[in-house]
Amino acid sequence: MTSPAPRPRPQAKPGISEIAPYVPGKSGAKGARVFKLSSNETPLGPSPKAIEAFAAAARTLALYPDGAASELREAIAQRYGLNAARIVCGAGSDELLQLIAHAYLGPGDEAIHTEHGFLVYPIAIKANGATAVVAPERDFHADVDAILARVTARTRVIFLANPNNPTGTYLPFDEVKRLHAGLPPDCLLVLDAAYAEYVRRNDYEAGVELVSQFDNVVMTRTFSKIHGLAALRLGWAYCPEHVADTLNRIRGPFNVSAPALAAGVGAITDRDFAETAIAHNENWLAWLTTELTALGLTVTPSVGNFLLVHFPKDAGRNAPAADEFLTSRGIVLRRMEGYGLPGALRLTIGDEEANRAVVAALAEFLR
Ligand SMILES: *Cc1c(COP(=O)(O)O)cnc(C)c1O
Repeated sequence: MTSPAPRPRPQAKPGISEIAPYVPGKSGAKGARVFKLSSNETPLGPSPKAIEAFAAAARTLALYPDGAASELREAIAQRYGLNAARIVCGAGSDELLQLIAHAYLGPGDEAIHTEHGFLVYPIAIKANGATAVVAPERDFHADVDAILARVTARTRVIFLANPNNPTGTYLPFDEVKRLHAGLPPDCLLVLDAAYAEYVRRNDYEAGVELVSQFDNVVMTRTFSKIHGLAALRLGWAYCPEHVADTLNRIRGPFNVSAPALAAGVGAITDRDFAETAIAHNENWLAWLTTELTALGLTVTPSVGNFLLVHFPKDAGRNAPAADEFLTSRGIVLRRMEGYGLPGALRLTIGDEEANRAVVAALAEFLR
């Protein structure tokens, strides 16, 4: 008897089987007081205006949302002095990154991201059958020369998180301009500025200036971080007109929910709340950097709402051991193996209680 031939079954497109699935930050055990510092969520929650708008949206759940997201695009445009027609909203900046890859990448194409870049980029690239080309970083900073050296006739898109997650480092505007100047005009530069609001540096620019000036630059932003609306999935892209037109053709006609649109307007118009969140982050980012360094740990200088913390190599004191120790105390950080950084953990800036708890626990761990 011969065994039956395997039955044919539907096959996903080539490239998809090569994707390492995205593993989100752990949430910790249910019940006990857990400090979840693994997903760069804000400890301050959303603006009360966003919560109020979200609650009010409960009364109209039977209706489809405004597929054009007009009110939110106007509010964003007003807040930043932009042209609303060039804003495209998405279900998280994640959706926008996926739409960009979907529109501009296919088999035979290449897209570049940096060595410790955001893991959504290789997923989006490979899902469209394109090749992900990795540019090495220098001391956890994106390296413009390394990126430019990898541009070929097949390169269609460059994904750059600025500031980058998980390293927390950023490229000054001069460097971003130098990167753009070295790219062919048919190569799209995607500036993922998810953490832009947190950056307090005179030499930083999120991307508006380049998008306004050139046909091949897109900037993506999110409501998941400073605005505290991660659960609602809301992001936006500022685009050249032709890119906005492209994304609007392929996105779902109602890709952003009505409660998300309403909460987004509440959040973007509450500037005082955002200022409070920025001040909280600035204060505790500096405090944590100082305290962790004093414990003998190496901390990559960050401009975001998180820190990349490097641990010693020896078995009892390495990153996995630290993770286990912290988790047993209800403190959840992010493991970094998936980012090629097995010796480090990523720590989100929390509220005062969480921040003090992390430092105390790590002091005990290293004793
Ligand atoms: C958190 C994060 C985002 C935001 O993703 P959303 O889909 O908007 O929640 C985008 N890019 C980077 C680099 C991030 O860390």
